[in-house]
Amino acid sequence: MSVKETLKAISYSVGNVIKKPVTKMYPDVPMPISKRSRGMLSLDLDDCIGCELCYKICPADAIRMQKLDVHFAHNARDEAPTIDFNKCIFCGLCSEICPPQVLHHTHKYDISTKNRAELMFSPFQLKDVFLELVAKNPEEYEKHETAKIADAKQAPLSANPQPPAQTQGENKTS
Ligand code: SF4
Ligand code: SF4
Repeated sequence: MSVKETLKAISYSVGNVIKKPVTKMYPDVPMPISKRSRGMLSLDLDDCIGCELCYKICPADAIRMQKLDVHFAHNARDEAPTIDFNKCIFCGLCSEICPPQVLHHTHKYDISTKNRAELMFSPFQLKDVFLELVAKNPEEYEKHETAKIADAKQAPLSANPQPPAQTQGENKTS
């Protein structure tokens, strides 16, 4: 190694000693994430209309419709989605297609667990996530939604999600 290369290596090493560490102390210090990131889903259950579109469009078969034992004014079918986060690929299609826009991606991504059953979320558990993460941060969520809508407007029409043909949806069982 030439003297020039040695000096270059030393200066590089010294520079890194002076720099702030790049390592984040996760999970004590959460990692910064993009406002448009798609984390765990939440459901504003009170306004779900039970239309099943989320269930029909899910490419990962992560959604099942669950009969509700409580009647909500907008939900004539008395059913709402359950989501299996073991299967969910966080593609965002269900959130995009939902007519009343009640399925929201949150910014929560650290949902790993040793018990797979804990990743099956009923409509009421999804509502709890909504109340905890979205309803309490409407301002932050509003920015996220505005960005999402702007993205959708820029996207070519062919890229917009369409509900699958009825025959495909009929093959699914609740
Ligand atoms: S984000 Fe995608 S994979 Fe996950 S539940 Fe919604 S449609 Fe299914
Ligand atoms: S698409 Fe939206 S309104 Fe329809 S069942 Fe799913 S969550 Fe409810």
